[in-house]
This record gives sequence, structure tokens and C-alpha cells, in this order.
Amino acid sequence: PLAIEVREVTYTYGNIKALNGVSFDIPVGTKVALMGPNGAGKSTLISLLNGLELSQKGEVRLFGEEVKRDNGHQLRRRVGVVYQDPDDQIFSMSVEEDVAFGPRNLGLNEEEVLERVEQALISVGMKEMSKRSPFELSYGQKRRVAIAGVLAMRPELIILDEPMSFLDPKGRDELQALLENMHRMGLTIVVATHDVDFAAEWADHVLLLKEGKLIASGTVDLLYEDE
Ligand code: ADP
Ligand code: ADP
Repeated sequence: PLAIEVREVTYTYGNIKALNGVSFDIPVGTKVALMGPNGAGKSTLISLLNGLELSQKGEVRLFGEEVKRDNGHQLRRRVGVVYQDPDDQIFSMSVEEDVAFGPRNLGLNEEEVLERVEQALISVGMKEMSKRSPFELSYGQKRRVAIAGVLAMRPELIILDEPMSFLDPKGRDELQALLENMHRMGLTIVVATHDVDFAAEWADHVLLLKEGKLIASGTVDLLYEDE
């Protein structure tokens, strides 16, 4: 089954074509690296995959269902996005409160909320920091809290924007292990990244955008075709 189907999608801001006739398919469980220089259209594509924006032309299907105005909200629950800057995503006074925010918003009972929070914090290795204030954590720890908050929503597709940025080598190793964990959980993972070495090592599928066009889509080999 396919997690993502993008068909001839065009998205414009005024007269800027942020995405221009983009098409690709991603099977469930794939590790995807979304690459391309600044301005290539990565953020715009993430907004479409998140159901936050609707394509003006073409269609986006998630798990076989077309994203439309009336079901964007429903589908969005199945997609989690971890933004580049964890400070945009962290609000609460304690780590556990922060991770609980999303599941509580879903209207789950408190027992279920707490169970999800615990599991999510264990999977990102932050269980011992449950009671800490997120504001006193390192950048890498904050990012893991932001990821836990998304995992607690139990998404099927998770999109991470530049998750390796501003991490030291240890933080990168931990994050890569966490990505492997998510893969084992059966998640489809999209990572927007500039890091060719990381993409080559980690991804099953690379999407390469340039000026709104998908100039390459396939296995990591394509990253080396120009050389
Ligand atoms: P990336 O994430 O790869 O840097 P974006 O999707 O942010 O690319 O941007 C693609 C193009 O769309 C760029 O030319 C950018 O300047 C433009 N763009 C993005 N967001 C907006 C916006 N809200 N209003 C106008 N232009 C935008
Ligand atoms: P990224 O680091 O993901 O590439 P960008 O610098 O492309 O981020 O964009 C950051 C934010 O600014 C995004 O929300 C994007 O939509 C918005 N943005 C980008 N370009 C423009 C633009 N030309 N006009 C207005 N908003 C823009």
C-alpha cells in the first residue's frame, strides 16, 4: 500500500511557483529524504503532506485518500510534523505536560494520555526527564521532546524538517537510532535535509526538488549520478 501519492501537484504563492507539476509515490514504511536547495519547495510540500495547505492543481493522496478541504483535518491526525526549531513546538512547564498536550487535545481519557506520554518519552530516551522544564534542556533534548509530542499522537507518517541541524555528533547518533526505532514501528518517515551523507546512509528513497520541480526521485544512487 502507498502512504503518499502526489500527482501533478502545482502550488503557487502569487506568481511564484513553489511546486510545479510534482508527482511521486511513497509506499508505507519507506524512509524518504526530501532534498533540495533553499527555495526548492520543501516546506511547501511538507504543508501539503500535512493537509495544512491544499494543492491548487493536481492531487495529494495519503493512505489512499485524496486530501480535500473537508477531510484535511481528519487526515492530518495521521501525519505528524516535527519542525526544525523545537522552540516553535514546545510550550508547557514540564516535559510530560508538553508531550501530553496533543493526545489530551484528541479528547483521549487521562489513562490513555499518560500511557502514550510514557511510551513516547521512553522511545525518545527522555523518560527520566519527565518532570523537567523543557526550557532548561539542551537543543537535542528539546528536539527529542518535540518528537515525543508528535509520536504520542500515534501518526502513521512522520515528517521531520532538518532534524540533524544544530546537533553534536552524539545527538546525531541518538537521533539516527530514534529514526531506526520509528522505522521498526512501521512508520513512514520523511526527513527534509541538506545532508547528502546522512541521506545516502539512511534513506530508501530520495526526492530531489529544485525550483519547484522534482528533478529526481528514486534510490539513493541518484545522489551520485552527477559525479
Ligand atoms: P524550501 O523549504 O525548499 O526552502 P519553500 O517551500 O519554503 O522552499 O519555498 C519555495 C518557494 O516559494 C520559494 O521561492 C519561496 O520564497 C516561496 N514561498 C514560500 N512560502 C511563501 C509565502 N508564504 N509567500 C510567498 N512566497 C513563498
Ligand atoms: P526552510 O528553512 O524550511 O527552507 P524557508 O526559509 O523556506 O524555510 O521558509 C520559512 C518560512 O517562511 C516558511 O513558512 C515559508 O512559507 C515562509 N516563506 C519563505 N519564503 C517566503 C516568501 N518569499 N514570502 C513569504 N514567506 C516566505
